[in-house]
Amino acid sequence: MGAKRFGAIEAGGTKWVCAIGDESGELVETETFPTTTPDETIGRAAAFLAEGGPLAALGVGCFGPVDVHRSSQTWGHITTTPKPGWANTDVAPRLGELLGTRVAFDTDVNAAAVGEQLRGAAVGLETFAYITVGTGIGAGIVVGGRVHHGLAHPEFGHMRVPHWPDDPFPGSCPFHGDCLEGLASGESLRQRWSRPAEEIDDDVAWQIEARYLAAGIVNLICTLSPQRVIIGGGVLKRPALLPLIRTHVDELLAGYVAAPELVEPACGRDAGVLGALELARRLVSSDRGSGG
Ligand code: ZN
Repeated sequence: MGAKRFGAIEAGGTKWVCAIGDESGELVETETFPTTTPDETIGRAAAFLAEGGPLAALGVGCFGPVDVHRSSQTWGHITTTPKPGWANTDVAPRLGELLGTRVAFDTDVNAAAVGEQLRGAAVGLETFAYITVGTGIGAGIVVGGRVHHGLAHPEFGHMRVPHWPDDPFPGSCPFHGDCLEGLASGESLRQRWSRPAEEIDDDVAWQIEARYLAAGIVNLICTLSPQRVIIGGGVLKRPALLPLIRTHVDELLAGYVAAPELVEPACGRDAGVLGALELARRLVSSDRGSGG
């Protein structure tokens, strides 16, 4: 009797991390390559995963927005992404067909939240958020131990926050202008200061950044009541930013409710792919649990 193998993909807008994992959730083999066209990228992932032998299931954490509803005709598709060539791509159905296996499909941030829940900064927690601030802004949300879906999936990055009167930047979101992502993502920093986030040294720039992120986090705290908030991503690589955000969160909450811990991720780069692997394992165990 051979041990079961599972596939996992962290399908990002700039790179895909693909992995074969075993029944205990350990990564056996991984491959990373840049995101190009849908045909090439999905084909390359399928070729790598097919070499890992028959898969009991595949888990995919995908950039989005995506359709996560099993009963929908467009389940497993990327929907309205501005990324050229990728809108309406049938990521999960196509991978399922190419590999002849079932697919658990969720957002990249929900998968990363599951990874942090398993092995990172959210071990033992039931309700928490995992925020990433990179080119865009997103949050994976776990409620009562399960990733949260509703009408679609949460879009933390596109919530509205107060636009500070002394900030003339109109915002970079192609849909909303000055939503949180439009005001505080890596892309908005690049447009506002005419250089990439890692090259910005101006204290004022980081004060503004911390204020906007704190406003978004406070809204999340007031609606979700998370036990902890994990925040990472390329923009958070600046060590001074997290303490600044904490200060502004405390100020905005003004002692009305206790601020949950605001911490860095602890899974490193593997959170997304570990979470995707866990989603695949849960798909198989939920089948067992429901008797078919
Ligand atoms: Zn937006």
